Amino acid sequence: MKMDALPDQAVNEIKKVVEVAGYLWQREWAERNGGNISVDLTEYFEKTTIDSSKLPHNLLSIVGEGAGFPKDSAGHIFFVKGGGERIRELADPQIAGCVLMIDEEAKGYYLLWGGRGKSDYKPTSEFISHVEIHMDKQRAGSSHRCVVHTHPLDLIALSHHPKCAADEELYTHVCWQMLPEVRAFIPKGIGIVPYCMPGSQTIAEGTVQKLRKHDVAIWEKHGAVATGIDAHEAFDYIDVANKGAKLYLQCLASGYEPQGVSEKDMQDLKETFNL
Ligand SMILES: [Zn+2]
Repeated sequence: MKMDALPDQAVNEIKKVVEVAGYLWQREWAERNGGNISVDLTEYFEKTTIDSSKLPHNLLSIVGEGAGFPKDSAGHIFFVKGGGERIRELADPQIAGCVLMIDEEAKGYYLLWGGRGKSDYKPTSEFISHVEIHMDKQRAGSSHRCVVHTHPLDLIALSHHPKCAADEELYTHVCWQMLPEVRAFIPKGIGIVPYCMPGSQTIAEGTVQKLRKHDVAIWEKHGAVATGIDAHEAFDYIDVANKGAKLYLQCLASGYEPQGVSEKDMQDLKETFNL
């Protein structure tokens, strides 16, 4: 299927993913196959008739007790980076990604588009946790439809800090204080998921919890996850948070503890922007 066979708005959202994937690579936030992006495109397929009997069907390879996608994700359609694919190769989204539909049992998926044209193409190994984040947001009435996980250098470096890594309020504060925009555009702050195995249920559940209360979730000593209306907005959350971490670490590297925006000025920002 060619890209123009997809609904226009779905193509539009995939193009945003392509653009953001380029930024992640340029920032050195996406070495090798690190990081992943998914977008829920379901609403754009409402007028499209899909005959799943004609589509390649794959079951999830990890099917244990209770394993699988959340039940209410059945029938949802996503664009997602492929397993083992490079973010930088999302420049051609039908090579490094695919459009898939979760099956009726939420135990597998139908391939609709991309995936190198292979009928057994697999999404990123983090995809189940992405779907858990997507569905948790949607159940809460959020308009967020994109999940981005990447390896932002300064946020990761700060998650190695002996005090900040163990204290998400302090971690958030040191980022907020560096620039008014960080306080204004990351109003719910940054949550930290203590180090655990990538791809595990522990990291998935921890991330869902943190993203209920915060704009960005840090995976300690690993990376960051954020959601947004689209790929640009999800990227913005991580980008702004990383700016705070970068400035803080630059001050420490210059040999001084930064003064930071004062508590009173931060409070004024909170009131002015209604945060
Ligand atoms: Zn990662």
